[in-house]
Amino acid sequence: MNFQQVLEEIVAETASLEKEGNVANYIPELAKVSPDHFGISLHLLNGKHYRTGDSEMRFSIQSIAKVFSLSMAIGLLGESIFQRVDVEPSGTAFNSLLQLDYEEGIPRNPFINAGALVVVDILLSELKDPQKELLQYVRKLAGNQEINFNDYVAASEKVEGYRNIAMANLLKSHGNLHNKVEDVLDFYFRLCSIEMSCSELSKTFLVYAHHGRIPHTREKILTKSQAKRLNALMQTCGFYDEAGEFSYKVGLPGKSGVGGGIVAVLPEKFSLSVWSPALNKKGNSVRGMKALELFTTKTGLSVF
Ligand code: GLU
Repeated sequence: MNFQQVLEEIVAETASLEKEGNVANYIPELAKVSPDHFGISLHLLNGKHYRTGDSEMRFSIQSIAKVFSLSMAIGLLGESIFQRVDVEPSGTAFNSLLQLDYEEGIPRNPFINAGALVVVDILLSELKDPQKELLQYVRKLAGNQEINFNDYVAASEKVEGYRNIAMANLLKSHGNLHNKVEDVLDFYFRLCSIEMSCSELSKTFLVYAHHGRIPHTREKILTKSQAKRLNALMQTCGFYDEAGEFSYKVGLPGKSGVGGGIVAVLPEKFSLSVWSPALNKKGNSVRGMKALELFTTKTGLSVF
C-alpha cells in the first residue's frame, strides 16, 4: 500500500474543512494558535514512517497526555486503580460536573477530566518527584529527551481553570482525592501542557500498538492484558460524548485533546496522529476526525 499517497490524498480531501470549528478559547494560550495548521504522521511497527503537512511542529497535546498518566498508574499499581475510577463511557462532556456528584465522586472513566484528576492524585501519592518522573516516562516512550511541559500553557489553564477547580473540590468532598486539591490541579495542568509534534506523538504511541512493549528499546511497560485494556478504554472513552461517533466512523482506539490533536492505534500494525486545532462543539478536531475516518476507509485498516 502506498501510505504516503494516502496521506497526501487525505490532506487534499479535508482541505475544505479548514475553516470549520473553533480553536479552544477557554485556555487563553490555546486561543492564540492559528486554526490553519494541519499535520499527519503514521508510524508502522515495521519501522516505516510517513508524514506530511505540519507534522514536525509541536502543539499542546492536552488530554492525549491522560493516556500517559493512566499507563504509568496501571504499570505501577495494576487493576487496583479501578476502585477509584470506573471504566464506563460517560456520554457527557470532558469537563462535566453533573454525573460526578450523583455517582458519589467516582468518575466514569480515566479520560474525562474528573477521572484524570484521580489518576494524577494516585501518581502524586506513589511517586517521589511526580512531575520529573512523569516527564522521564513520556521521554522514554518517545525516545526523545526534548519532550517537555509548556509552562505558559499550564499557567494559562490554571488562571481560568474554574471548572477543573470545581471538579477537584467535588472529588475531594467525596473523599476521592488524597492529596491537596492545589497540588493535584498543578500536576494535572502540567500534564495537559505537554507538547509534541505529530511525528513524536505517533512514534510514542507505538507502544500501545505493540502490546505494551516500547519498540525502540524492547522494554515492556505494560503486560499484554494491561495494554489491551488501555486500548479498550481509548476505544470506548477516548472522545468523551463523541466516543461512539469516533468508533463508528474510524474504528480504532484513540485519544483526542483540545489542542486539536488526535492519535489512534491499530494493535500489531501502526500508530497514526493528526493535528488540526479547530474543534467541534464536543471538543474534538473537526478536520482531524475526518482525516482519520478517511484513512481507515481508504486503507481498510481498522480493528473491525
Ligand atoms: N486541559 C484540558 C482541560 O482540562 C484538557 C481537555 C481536553 O484536552 O480534552 O480542560
